[in-house]
Amino acid sequence: MVNNRLFITDRANAVTPFLVMEILEKAKEMELRGEDIVHLEVGEPDFDSPKCVKDAAKEAIDRSETRYSPSLGLRQLREAIADDYRKKYGVKFSYERVVITSGTSPVLQMIFAALLERGDEVIMTDPHYACYPSFVNFFGGTPVYIKTWEEDNFRLNPADILSRITEKTRAILINSPSNPTGTILSVPDMQEIVKMAIPVVSDEIYNGLIYDGEERSILEFCDNAFVVDGFSKRYAMTGWRLGFAVVPEIYVRPMQRLAQNFFISAPTVSQWAGIAALDKAGEDLEIMRMEYGRRRDFLLGGLKKIGLDVASDPAGAFYVFVNMRAYTDDSLAFALDILEKAKVAVSPGIDFGEGGEGFIRLSYATSIERIEEGLTRLEKYLSSYFQP
Ligand code: PMP
Repeated sequence: MVNNRLFITDRANAVTPFLVMEILEKAKEMELRGEDIVHLEVGEPDFDSPKCVKDAAKEAIDRSETRYSPSLGLRQLREAIADDYRKKYGVKFSYERVVITSGTSPVLQMIFAALLERGDEVIMTDPHYACYPSFVNFFGGTPVYIKTWEEDNFRLNPADILSRITEKTRAILINSPSNPTGTILSVPDMQEIVKMAIPVVSDEIYNGLIYDGEERSILEFCDNAFVVDGFSKRYAMTGWRLGFAVVPEIYVRPMQRLAQNFFISAPTVSQWAGIAALDKAGEDLEIMRMEYGRRRDFLLGGLKKIGLDVASDPAGAFYVFVNMRAYTDDSLAFALDILEKAKVAVSPGIDFGEGGEGFIRLSYATSIERIEEGLTRLEKYLSSYFQP
């Protein structure tokens, strides 16, 4: 038998685990053993995809839309997205600037592949979405973190960005509404950020899921930004793997070459489903948003009752970032212990950066009944294992 020498690159080894997924996978194993787990860890809507979306996919299959699409996506979907942005935000751009991908995760990688040389810097908040540093590091970049604080509602202060800009800064990565904090950027702050003349990469995947405040896009303030967005969250379409970016014109061709080589195209059936989502799912979206709003209020009220008050209410997305520093300075061990003993899956704050250590992230993308059960178990766990 040939004995091949197997090795793993430093680049692959340097990718740290996405702890939310690790907790989810562990919770699933426990469920296979027959345990009842309350899932408050995962950022995935519990809603079914809208009926119009499923119908459009079935029709696409029946029409045999089963082949590759162009690498940048179906023209009809690209046009529908440009139209949606015009209607929602009053911004006009050609459909040619829209790049369709299988989720926002690949398009973030393509953007950093196109923007970063070795040692280039990307400014982002701490806490931040867990995978951002992995994307930046993988393409040779260096994340530069700006701490945001619970007392300040995790606001990204533009003055702090200015103080961290160097000759190597290639992008400012923003995420509003934010995962994990639910914070939204104010219009004046967006205006300040675009003035800095550094490319802005704006992850707007949680737009449409806002309960206090306005839904805005960075493109209202700067035509030259990279917007990253997708269908996973607001349309409850995680498994369809459909996302997109709007990129400055000069990046379209490089993005096309990257897509052609690395991904060929996003799933064609999902793209037809996406067209239906934009065209027909407005009402479904509003029903889901209202329900998330109700769940948010229920979770915040329930947390307060068990002494876990949050400093300010998250305005968007479907997360509450809860300070647990009175109980732990090791959020991963804490989350694993809660899972083991209370059978509640929560996300450890450390997954979202050092600034998240001592926090846990609770997702309210699950029913009020399950949230209530989770809170009951959490209260019991805290009173059994910790002195008041
Ligand atoms: N950005 C943020 C902020 C997210 O929370 C997520 C999903 N957890 C993604 C991007 C990736 O989403 P998808 O690849 O499903 O579009």
